Amino acid sequence: MRAVVYHGPRHVSVDDVPDARIERPTDVLVRITSTNICGSDLHMYEGRADFEPGSIFGHENLGEVIEVGSAVEKIKVGDLVSVPFNVSCGKCQNCESGFTNYCLRANKPGIAGAAYGFAEMGPYPGGQAELLRVPWGDFDCLRLPEDARSKQDDYVMLSDIFPTGWHSVVMSGLKPGESIVIYGAGPVGLMAALSAIVQGASQVMIVDRHPDRLRLAEEIGATTIDDSKVSPVDAVMELTNGLGANRGCECVGYQAHDAQGHEDNSLTLNELIQSIRFTGGIGTVGLFVPRDPGAPDDLAKHGRARFDVGDFWFKGQTMGTGQCPVKRYNRYLRSLIAQEKVKPSWIVSHDLPLEQAPAAYKNFDAREEGWTKVVLHPAQAA
Ligand code: NAD
Ligand code: ZN
Repeated sequence: MRAVVYHGPRHVSVDDVPDARIERPTDVLVRITSTNICGSDLHMYEGRADFEPGSIFGHENLGEVIEVGSAVEKIKVGDLVSVPFNVSCGKCQNCESGFTNYCLRANKPGIAGAAYGFAEMGPYPGGQAELLRVPWGDFDCLRLPEDARSKQDDYVMLSDIFPTGWHSVVMSGLKPGESIVIYGAGPVGLMAALSAIVQGASQVMIVDRHPDRLRLAEEIGATTIDDSKVSPVDAVMELTNGLGANRGCECVGYQAHDAQGHEDNSLTLNELIQSIRFTGGIGTVGLFVPRDPGAPDDLAKHGRARFDVGDFWFKGQTMGTGQCPVKRYNRYLRSLIAQEKVKPSWIVSHDLPLEQAPAAYKNFDAREEGWTKVVLHPAQAA
């Protein structure tokens, strides 16, 4: 099969690799028809994560079931399914408690949580390929309605970024009528903005410096703050009568940098602490890592940050962190799409064949104007 393979920093190609196949009775084999490039892929693409050369990318997958293992009861050949980026067994203590993001059995002993095509997240090849093996297929696959065949660019967001944006708003503790500020208007931040609106925020502010991304946020009614022109903390204060927002989302991660490009992994966290009022909450879904050998400073190399713990504590703020448990939300977000309450495909800028992945990685990584979200299509839906 053809697949997007990592060869080293900023070097991917579409190669012939052995076909994914059913290996265990609980596996489902999916022919991938839509698979996104994610900001998480970019950390690996840039060589800023321990991603083994030879690994296949792709954790935002949608496709058609072409074969099922002998123990699979529910999922059938021909089903169109969304595959959550988390690989989870459905039977361990964490999965049973709804923490499929921290499955105790899918990764090696001592590490909870696994994902497709992801550094340190287990041995699972990604879905930027013609075929994907889905372990524990009955538990992990979400069946999609018939309209998904023509609305793949909406439903493909269910495997990661729509639930992740939603989760960041949930972790912030948002209640209807409250205000929220989102740092990062990449695909995840844009989904957080959409989610905050659906969850009843009275005011959604979003910070970035890329005009194309801010424009997309504006289209759904968010107030945009360009941090290359103004201090985002001052702007939030001005918009909230000097109180700060009730809630905040971190949708940037450890490679946060200022508008001049200077990287500082504590930047957005500390700006959030300053932008949010006393007793406010923060949902951090932007990725942070325990080790970062490629970091520009010594603290960050060891996964540490200059976090303003004094102000955070003094203001009585709370923060939720970590990977999103996609299965907690995807069924319900599927209904929002099916009922046309939301249209998450509004952020998609490029629908491309798999073979164009190398150029797509290059442009998306450079945050080139107009490259807001790429969907690759290894195969056509039947
Ligand atoms: P992206 O890189 O496309 O977007 C990040 C955006 O942040 C960019 O538009 C960039 O301009 C902006 N940015 C950088 N520094 C900033 C700053 N100081 N202030 C404001 N904005 C700033 O990536 P994405 O796909 O939107 O993903 C965002 C983060 O979410 C990544 O770290 C990704 O790994 C992570 N992620 C986490 C989960 C999860 O389950 N927790 C899931 C998906 C993605
Ligand atoms: Zn992703």
